Amino acid sequence: MSKHGFSTKAIHAGQPAEPITGAIMTPVFLTSTYVQEELGKHKGYEYSRVSNPTRTALEMNIAALENGKHGLAFGSGTAAVDAILHLLKPGDHVIMSWNVYGGTYRIAKMIWEEFGLQFDFVDTTNLQNVERVLRPSTKMLFIETPTNPTMEITDLSAAASLAKKHRLISVVDNTFATPYLQQPLDHGFDIVVHSLTKYLNGHSDMLGGLIVTNVDAHNERLRFMQKAVGGILSPFDSWLCLRGTKTLVVRIRQHCESAMRVAQWLHGQKKVKKVYYPGLDDHPQHALAKKQMRAFGGMISFELGSLAVAAAFLKNVRLCALAESLGGVETIITHPATMTHASIPPDQRARIGVTDGLVRISVGIEDVEDILADIENALDTI
Ligand SMILES: *Cc1c(COP(=O)(O)O)cnc(C)c1O
Repeated sequence: MSKHGFSTKAIHAGQPAEPITGAIMTPVFLTSTYVQEELGKHKGYEYSRVSNPTRTALEMNIAALENGKHGLAFGSGTAAVDAILHLLKPGDHVIMSWNVYGGTYRIAKMIWEEFGLQFDFVDTTNLQNVERVLRPSTKMLFIETPTNPTMEITDLSAAASLAKKHRLISVVDNTFATPYLQQPLDHGFDIVVHSLTKYLNGHSDMLGGLIVTNVDAHNERLRFMQKAVGGILSPFDSWLCLRGTKTLVVRIRQHCESAMRVAQWLHGQKKVKKVYYPGLDDHPQHALAKKQMRAFGGMISFELGSLAVAAAFLKNVRLCALAESLGGVETIITHPATMTHASIPPDQRARIGVTDGLVRISVGIEDVEDILADIENALDTI
């Protein structure tokens, strides 16, 4: 598949016609085990915790989209992040972007620190901050770009070469961008991780996580983790996500186009104090986003000034759903300080710009006029 274009890979990679019937769609292999012909002779599948053909199809599909060799699917994005931290040993030090996904911060601080890993959270938009906290025991650089929810952009090529120079395992959480907008392995990263729950599945009807890597040793250790620990994705959820990735390109194009319209509109509103969207000229890393991303994504945050104003606004939206999560076809609106980022201490929240007046919107693919009318209505009431 590697010579084909991105859309063609999204539809076909990992999914040849089913050999017995010719079924064009990969079946949901609802089976725990596989009958063996004789001792030591099987068709490549032994037990579904180790591997399952529907999961294999999804793993190959998304690995192809990230231009990677190996894909590994987990039961959630956080399970995939957790598996990556299992590559380390007690005493190892990890440097993470300071506004990584709240759940990633929570695993780091509340689980892995107890088991002897050490963490620093720094602003990776300036890589000197990474150099400043490097120690002899630093083993991993884990970044997110664009970040959640303030849409900061980290230079992928520069971060990858910094990691190489200091022999760090380099990881990007590519959930917000998706491989259609940026492919971190091509910039030299070792590992890409996704929450499938968001854009890759795109229909808000499953949870999943996926790791892609070109490093054979990491793949072997992570496969061992799937088998030994068992935090794997089910065949049915794998199948749902395969259905999602087929339309990834057309969905993301529309998300990006509509988000640009919404961001520009918000930017002109008096009641909106600030708009965070990498596609706007006044975004501090707009030029970098333009260089390393195909388009600017479907996520926007904006500042309404106070908790009371944000709460009134959120109470008055009708079409936009007030909910956690993002990346579905429907527009979802969130209050990061009390929802997605509630587990981050208030002082740390203030440092990364997650104020009480901040609202985040995952722009869906409804008619953009309807989304704008809903936001305008809610703004009028405050
Ligand atoms: C949602 C999310 C995760 C966690 O994924 P789950 O599937 O919810 O476990 C990790 N990283 C980012 C950027 C996310 O948005």
